Amino acid sequence: MKAAILSIGDELMLGQTADTNAIWLSGRLADVGVECVQRRTVSDDCAMQASAMRELADVADFVIVTGGLGPTDDDLTRAALQQAIGHGTGSLPPMLEDGVMLSRLERWFAERGRVMPAINRRQSLHPAGSEALPNEVGTAPGLRAKLGNATVVCLPGPPREMHPMYEQCVAPLLPVSPMKCGMVHAFGSGESSLAECLGDRMRRDRNPLVGTTASGSVVSARVRGRDQAASEAAIEKELSEIESLWKPFAFGRGSTTLAGSLGAALLQRKQTLAIAESCTGGLAGSLVTAESGSSTWFLGGLVTYANEVKRDMCDVPQTMLDQHGAVSEPVASALAQGVRKKLKADWAASITGIAGPTGGSDDKPVGTVWIGVCGPQFEAVRRFRFPGDRATVRDRAAKTAIALLRMAITDPSNRVSLLWEWPVDG
Ligand code: AMP
Ligand code: MG
Repeated sequence: MKAAILSIGDELMLGQTADTNAIWLSGRLADVGVECVQRRTVSDDCAMQASAMRELADVADFVIVTGGLGPTDDDLTRAALQQAIGHGTGSLPPMLEDGVMLSRLERWFAERGRVMPAINRRQSLHPAGSEALPNEVGTAPGLRAKLGNATVVCLPGPPREMHPMYEQCVAPLLPVSPMKCGMVHAFGSGESSLAECLGDRMRRDRNPLVGTTASGSVVSARVRGRDQAASEAAIEKELSEIESLWKPFAFGRGSTTLAGSLGAALLQRKQTLAIAESCTGGLAGSLVTAESGSSTWFLGGLVTYANEVKRDMCDVPQTMLDQHGAVSEPVASALAQGVRKKLKADWAASITGIAGPTGGSDDKPVGTVWIGVCGPQFEAVRRFRFPGDRATVRDRAAKTAIALLRMAITDPSNRVSLLWEWPVDG
């Protein structure tokens, strides 16, 4: 079963209202395994809406339309459905008045001590060949009709009316065959490199189907069964193969976050963490404390922004700061060792760099960040050169520190690559 979504309204086309209806509907369709093949947005233009309804009815079994069912002259969904039903017949089907809907409307206003404005009467109309769907929350009834082999359901635009009407009038009409799917997440390499590692797994005719997305520097592979022929075992096999192809960057599946994967590694080993942050000003600490239960493994973070604070709080020698500057390998190393000792943690990370846009120089350009990681019998300090604006550099630096910690903690063989193979320009 294939579905399509048509969002209607000038406010959507003008960027004044975010099309949350389409997002919500896509999620609900995915929940029951109905594939959404197209989403369209159309302005308050009757002919345009009618042709969009017909075109979507050609490619989908189910078309869900939202918006344009109000009583005003710019609400044209009813008339558009009338045109779409009449298309090719040489005449428009008549508009019929639904007595039950009219008395519902009158009652809705009476219950609120109001007289129904004359223009609301048109909300009780529906084109012949369709039926009206009751709205328990607002005035606009929905509509349902057949266009060719497809079922078209029109729902009101306001989400608080649309959601319950979907549950009541649409959900029961859909088959339920939850989509089998899974996600693997990775951090530390770009989307194109990671996609390349997958070879022909991303071919569009495969089942399960594999796709990648990147968000906040985290790259995710989505593995999805196209139909019931894709077994749970096939999806599980695909997910674990992607995890090994994405070593050492893959950090988890499903709803696992980067910080959550670090927390799980520490928790499993009953070990603790401390962080000293300069250019990220507490961002890494914020990411780890966003994880519920982080108090069991995260001892604390120091925001060692000024040189004196690096010296006084983390015992970074003044001579080292004078000689190499705060953004340097020895300082990153001393900061990590210092905070580890001060907070008596098993593992520690340090972040010191130039987030920009000011402060860069020829030998330390904007985006240069040194990250130190240390733990039991282990120490690594790496230089990175992150592209992007201040916020992006800080975000990448904080997440990289967390990723390096996870790699070092979870796999001794990663420690070798941390020291020797990790690209300098991350
Ligand atoms: P309408 O049914 O077209 O009169 O829409 C009424 C109101 O519903 C609009 O002013 C928006 O606030 C809201 N609305 C309409 N379409 C959407 C949509 N696709 N996503 C979110 N809100 C919407
Ligand atoms: Mg509208």
